[in-house]
Amino acid sequence: MTSADVAVVGTGPNGLAAGVTLTRAGLKVELYEAADTIGGGLRTQPLFERDVDHDICAAVHPMAAASRFFREFDLATRGVELLHPEISYAHPLEGGRAGLAHRDLAATCTELGPDGERWRTLLQPLLDHSQGVVDLILSGQRALPHDPAAALALATRIPVHASRLGAARFATEEAAALLTGVAAHAMGKLPSLASAAVTMLLGHLAHGTGWPLPRGGSARIARAMAADITAHGGTFHTACPITSLDQLTGAHTILLDTSVKGLLALAEDRLPPRYTRRLKRYRYGPAAAKVDFLVTEPIPWASPAVGRAGTVHLGGTHAQMTHQETLTARGILTEEPFVLLVDPAVTDPGRARPGKRPVWTYAHVPNGDTRDPAELVRSRIEHYAPGFTDTILAHRSITGAGYETHNPNYVGGDIGCGAMTLTQSLARPTLSIDPYRTPLPGLFLCSAATPPGPSVHGMSGYLAAQSALRTRFGITTTPSLAPEPTVAEGMG
Ligand SMILES: Cc1cc2nc3c(=O)[nH]c(=O)nc-3n(C[C@H](O)[C@H](O)[C@H](O)COP(=O)(O)OP(=O)(O)OC[C@H]3O[C@@H](n4cnc5c(N)ncnc54)[C@H](O)[C@@H]3O)c2cc1C
Repeated sequence: MTSADVAVVGTGPNGLAAGVTLTRAGLKVELYEAADTIGGGLRTQPLFERDVDHDICAAVHPMAAASRFFREFDLATRGVELLHPEISYAHPLEGGRAGLAHRDLAATCTELGPDGERWRTLLQPLLDHSQGVVDLILSGQRALPHDPAAALALATRIPVHASRLGAARFATEEAAALLTGVAAHAMGKLPSLASAAVTMLLGHLAHGTGWPLPRGGSARIARAMAADITAHGGTFHTACPITSLDQLTGAHTILLDTSVKGLLALAEDRLPPRYTRRLKRYRYGPAAAKVDFLVTEPIPWASPAVGRAGTVHLGGTHAQMTHQETLTARGILTEEPFVLLVDPAVTDPGRARPGKRPVWTYAHVPNGDTRDPAELVRSRIEHYAPGFTDTILAHRSITGAGYETHNPNYVGGDIGCGAMTLTQSLARPTLSIDPYRTPLPGLFLCSAATPPGPSVHGMSGYLAAQSALRTRFGITTTPSLAPEPTVAEGMG
């Protein structure tokens, strides 16, 4: 029982973005979180040693540096420092070679030699219209683009990179593999329209607002959002799983930061059968299987420049990644999965202690995979960094299937909260003019299962909150999210 205007179930970045927007509109908001701590994908905690923190889910934040929600929320003024590595991402190859995406586009193009001009021609027009590109892709995808030049730049690039023609344009493996590693963030068949859109978004941001890490870890972002909610009268209930909507009786409106499976578990008996049938057709994508390491020293990469990168992609050549990712999307196990790696102390030296540093990795594996990923990931790193194994003090792995126990939104380990296919990018969770609103009056979905989909951008929560404000409270002006002097706090 509650007397809240709005109950928000789940405190991932989208639940928190909804909470910020709704409390800023003057509503009484209560947020419920199943876990002991708030944050969902924005949790940071010690795993092996009390003085070494590990990011449990998200670690790198290109979307938080660029999305409309976070531009308005303004993390910097709230004391959250986004730290930029000199090299946004790197892609080691055989023989000590590597592709390097420096934050500086010109430096990247110079190093890519014969492919430098092609790299510049691909990404410079997107950089020239970066805000338009970001706002078009990270949107509800129901309105006309504000920046037609951004839309044109995307429209002329996405179809090419959704086909084999995209990578075929590059003469060197360094450039082809570098770009394919970005495409693999879409976690699905390669190439595809969805992977091409992700490539254009993340690929240009690497040379623009960047792929930063928050000083101290991702939880800093959640804390800043929670501080704003609390300062505007919102309240949190942690260790409080919502298993029935009856627990929220009295709330005028409910926003669910849950998966589609979670929405069905809570409301199937109250929703029209036609809608629930459509929800049951919602598809989940491949899983992440995570391995966190505690190591004694920086990773001994065969190509030392890789050690200056914020993010490292381990997937081999363009052809190998295309093969692996497509098999994984089909549910077929591979022995050499695509691995993402972050050594946070490269960008944020304060994350390391003498003789101890955290290493964050995850592998793409089929949905529901129950294999322990530790050996797959360790051998992948060792291949490009001989001697890595000797630096390991401890490790912890979470299987693909196990991720759902950790966070119910990651169904079968799908950290995207639903497959990122073209259809499901638009029809997320179903085809609808207002995808956030369910047919049950007062019930909204605000998680990554709604547009624009996964990542820490806050946009699903922000847009769902706007829909609720408009349709349930008659509030058509979106409140300001800008920091107020009393709310901004030093997080250091
Ligand atoms: C290993 C991993 C690495 C990632 N790396 C990155 C990255 O580097 N950068 C990036 O931008 N994104 C990354 N992501 C993706 C990002 O974390 C998610 O897209 C994002 O967190 C989704 O936000 P959300 O608010 O929709 O849901 P979540 O963050 O999943 O939060 C949902 C919350 O709701 C709670 N909840 C669900 N059901 C209930 C219920 N019934 N009752 C109460 N509480 C409930 C859950 O406990 C959870 O806390 C990563 C994810 C993972 C798992």
